[in-house]
Amino acid sequence: MIDQTYLVTKMPESEGMHFVHADTCQVLPDIEMETLGTYDGCAQAMEKAAQSYDPLNACALCCPDCFIKSDETEA
Ligand SMILES: [Zn+2]
Repeated sequence: MIDQTYLVTKMPESEGMHFVHADTCQVLPDIEMETLGTYDGCAQAMEKAAQSYDPLNACALCCPDCFIKSDETEA
């Protein structure tokens, strides 16, 4: 697996949630982001981001493995 740098949005995006993105993401938002570091998967980046940001989700495009559908977050 190729190491990838992950970022998290400092300000909440849609539905008041912070989103984790890979730095190569095609839809990186034009807002301030915090660099989480380099990981070999989005799950580790999510764990790191969860220490500082809540609620948290992953980008559906660049982190589909970690993306939580909005109708499942309330469960
Ligand atoms: Zn993304």
